[in-house]
Amino acid sequence: MSLLDWYDRYGRDLPWRRTRDPYAVWVSEVMLQQTQVATVLPYYERWMARFPTAASLAEAPEEEVMAHWQGLGYYRRCRNLLEGVRRCVANGFPVGHDAWRSMPGVGDYTAAALASILDGEPTPVVDGNVERVYARVCADDSVGDTRRRAARAWAQTLISHERPGDWNQAIMELGATVCRPRNPRCEACPLQSECLAFARGLTDSLPTPKPRPTTVDRTHPVAVWRRADGAVGMVQAQEAEWWAGLWVLPTPSAIGQLIASVTTTVTHHRVVLSAYEGVGEPPTGLRWVTRGELPAVPIPAPFRKLLTKLGF
Ligand code: SF4
Repeated sequence: MSLLDWYDRYGRDLPWRRTRDPYAVWVSEVMLQQTQVATVLPYYERWMARFPTAASLAEAPEEEVMAHWQGLGYYRRCRNLLEGVRRCVANGFPVGHDAWRSMPGVGDYTAAALASILDGEPTPVVDGNVERVYARVCADDSVGDTRRRAARAWAQTLISHERPGDWNQAIMELGATVCRPRNPRCEACPLQSECLAFARGLTDSLPTPKPRPTTVDRTHPVAVWRRADGAVGMVQAQEAEWWAGLWVLPTPSAIGQLIASVTTTVTHHRVVLSAYEGVGEPPTGLRWVTRGELPAVPIPAPFRKLLTKLGF
């Protein structure tokens, strides 16, 4: 069975595969960056119910858009998507890899996915799934950029020129559901007859694992100021900071009493968020958020957890 035949028969029926609307496919590709399909599905459904068209997203208030992204993390993706969609509503959608690549937040990977799916451009998409399939089929034990380049060259020679978008999705799907990191289902694999790792009994040792970055511990103190009506003082995180654009508790200028803490992970950092009672006068420029307003304000998940712990 060819890869495309396998995909036609066993590919998952996902909502963004039923459309050729560039906006809808773009939303799915951005959500799927660094996030698994099962996690993305409910977010995607909710998002498309609230912002069904590019125009509806473009004219929505940024705060509401960010609130719909809440829980998916990597909020910069959301802000870039919003900015890009606003540009497209004004000027039209890009066509082809290079035009997609010029959109904010669209790197080579996403540009290749969008150009192949929407524009029929035979540009391979290489993610971790594709690299794994490649490393096993070709029994390549290299790592890092060397393996990624080799995987791209391999995919470029194989990609279907008739259905490049489906081919890209098929090879990624194969990696996600059959050629899994552990216990690959070789008995169900359409590439088994040409797979060197299968033939040589190397499926457990390929791809060669890359060394893990060591986790760095960080503490992040924050101050809690409460108003008499129970509102909490918050600030918007700046561009270069973690959680940029979202509302967080401010950094204290003096340390008061420790009242709560939560531990979270940001990239390879293990971060302890420690909340201290605000000391002295609250800083000017705080946004006072009442309990009733909290659910609609875009707040990073660890801060929300901290606020819950604090009784907000
Ligand atoms: S035969 Fe097994 S190891 Fe080889 S590509 Fe298929 S699932 Fe992966």
